[in-house]
Amino acid sequence: MRPLLIALAVSLALPALAAEPVPPVEKAELHDIARAPSAARIEADIRKLVSFGTRHTLSSQTDPKRGVGAATRWIHAEFERISRDCGGCLEVQYVTGTVQGEPRIPGPVEVVSVIAIQRGSADPNRYVIMSGDIDSRVTDVMDAESDSPGANDNASGVAGTLEAARVLTKYQFPGSIVYAALSGEEQGLFGGRFLAGKAKAEGWRIEGVLNNDMIGNSAGINGVIDNTTARVFAEGTRATETAEEARMRRFTGGEVDSPTRNLARYIDRMAGYVPNLDVMMVYRLDRFARGGHHRPFNDLGYPAVRVMETNEHYDRQHQDLRTEDGRVYGDTIDGVDFDYAAKLTALNAVSLAGMAWAPPPPAEVKIEGAVTANTTLSWRKPAAAQAPNLAGYKVYWRLTTEPQWTHSRWAGNVETFTLEDVVIDNYFFGVAAVAKDGTESPVVFPGAAGSFGPY
Ligand SMILES: [Zn+2]
Repeated sequence: MRPLLIALAVSLALPALAAEPVPPVEKAELHDIARAPSAARIEADIRKLVSFGTRHTLSSQTDPKRGVGAATRWIHAEFERISRDCGGCLEVQYVTGTVQGEPRIPGPVEVVSVIAIQRGSADPNRYVIMSGDIDSRVTDVMDAESDSPGANDNASGVAGTLEAARVLTKYQFPGSIVYAALSGEEQGLFGGRFLAGKAKAEGWRIEGVLNNDMIGNSAGINGVIDNTTARVFAEGTRATETAEEARMRRFTGGEVDSPTRNLARYIDRMAGYVPNLDVMMVYRLDRFARGGHHRPFNDLGYPAVRVMETNEHYDRQHQDLRTEDGRVYGDTIDGVDFDYAAKLTALNAVSLAGMAWAPPPPAEVKIEGAVTANTTLSWRKPAAAQAPNLAGYKVYWRLTTEPQWTHSRWAGNVETFTLEDVVIDNYFFGVAAVAKDGTESPVVFPGAAGSFGPY
């Protein structure tokens, strides 16, 4: 309730600003989206994916029933079915590449992913992406024959992505949303690499990638049973930072404010729409020394996070199906908590919807104010046609040791704003674009360190 009261107080105190009203702090549809993902549909999709026996990247591409090829064709057909339900609102396509001479793919093998694009109405070249992985594995990463259900790793991520598509295709957005089922993850992150490369080659403006890898395990190997938190892994400084950018960052900050980190903060805030769910932001690229399909996007400088369960169970990952000394191993469907997977799907859906509805993140954000009492931020607005719903901008700040933005002020539909008597040395600052319906972009930290890119 508190933000609502503040907004009301401001609008009462400043009636002269009626031409630039403070936008509402929340959008009702986001509450609907948060409640829409279905545990039953997610369960049905995971069961279907498990039914292909194995989805190993080196398994059969042609068998109609068993192997990665059959699973991939089913995902393509499912996206097409979802598209028919929204009047053809999805562009469904295969993204392929041939791999050979790699330790885990001697090859040549065609790695085939499936994407479905829900094209934005005003800013079609701006993308938010949700992904999961098609492929599965057992103990020997080269074993393409044994049963490899991969129910949690990572049928859960694909099922969540399909369900998010079912939910979000009921709405229209200014920005584009991509639903991606990526292959070749366990063999070396190849599907993500091919999609990131395609995005780069085609000049996509990627606002954020939400890579879902294992979103259904709520009973951890550590004995913790928890269905009320999710982890969001976010790397620090951008992998593509130049030496000169690193030098500037040393003097002006940004180590903890890469666009990926501010994407994580955005998702953390959007968790407020999902009942009984909190986000644990983890300030690292991924689990210790482990990998996921957000990384190929980070490698090219795009904001990308890993969304996943908080408590993993290693007996149910990458294991041959077996019982040893009374201990059961294997990634079977009985280990998946479908309600929990639906909740993490909701977290994705509200985050994707919030960003796709909001105007693009501000570009060319700059800050100044050294040896003065005030701090001034400036930025550039997009072309009017790109953001027809733009209401204005909100300036954010926080203590340098705070994980989340703690203070904000509505700046109005302007390209510069001065915070009087707020000393630049003592806080980190950023700016977000705000739509007339109250949806906001992620907060953008000034300079190259925090940039989400040009319009
Ligand atoms: Zn895995």
